Amino acid sequence: MARLDGKVAIITGGAGGIGAATARLFAEEGARIVLVDIDAPTLETVDSEIRASVPGAEIAPLAIDVGQESAARAIVDHALARFGRIDVLVNNAGIRSYEPLDQARAETWAKILSVNLLSYAYLAREALPALRRSGKGAIVNISSTHAYNPRGGMGQYDAAKAGIISLTKTLAFEEVGNGVRVNAVCPGLTLTPFHVRRFAAEGKTEQDLRAEKTNHNIQGRWADPREVAYPILWLASDEASVMTASVIMADGGTRVL
Ligand code: NAD
Repeated sequence: MARLDGKVAIITGGAGGIGAATARLFAEEGARIVLVDIDAPTLETVDSEIRASVPGAEIAPLAIDVGQESAARAIVDHALARFGRIDVLVNNAGIRSYEPLDQARAETWAKILSVNLLSYAYLAREALPALRRSGKGAIVNISSTHAYNPRGGMGQYDAAKAGIISLTKTLAFEEVGNGVRVNAVCPGLTLTPFHVRRFAAEGKTEQDLRAEKTNHNIQGRWADPREVAYPILWLASDEASVMTASVIMADGGTRVL
């Protein structure tokens, strides 16, 4: 028996590093997946790669902007039309901004909050009726170690990530009587294609990044997206039946630095 056999999971940001790794792991563990991302070409590539390497994987990709409130209903309708149920919601889509707060523009605030926080709230709201019917519904919200360790220069992102923690705990409280568990995972430094592209501009290769010692966490290294996908898998699975309103720090020990 695989750990997500019979379950249907929605994963947002599914074309990105952590989302794609989570989708692959979920497919290996028997889930049928609605894979959501705004980046249609990369979504298509991730969908084909997973279906090619995981025999029997069932994936229903959906290219949509989760920053629009109406996307939440469309995603849930897509999941129900294709698979007839929803058991797991992984809110993972995220964008970054690098404006110090004394220069932070309203336009950037609105964008960050709509994708990184409001999309989590709207998609949860629209998926809740189906998650309640599941009987073992689970929401896993992807926050960040920087929800707790904010730094200079990414105040908008860090504030949205802190908001996700609050949203997670409130929703866990509100849904406990309906059998829906709500938890968060806080990744730390995780080596995704986004970071590989970002550092390529500085002349560093992926191998350089993997080899170098970082001072961001006590492990002194980047995490692989699959290492972050495992705690997400566990929280989504029935093995985590006692877990709700919890936050797992998947950050190599950043907070004890
Ligand atoms: P990523 O940039 O590789 O992936 C994010 C995905 O979200 C992308 O595929 C992107 O196209 C998608 N997306 C962005 N805006 C969207 C929108 N409006 N509608 C639909 N999809 C949209 O990022 P990642 O590193 O895999 O991060 C995944 C999550 O983990 C994010 O929430 C991120 O904030 C969080 N996180 C990542 C790290 C890290 O070091 N990689 C650290 C802490 C937290």
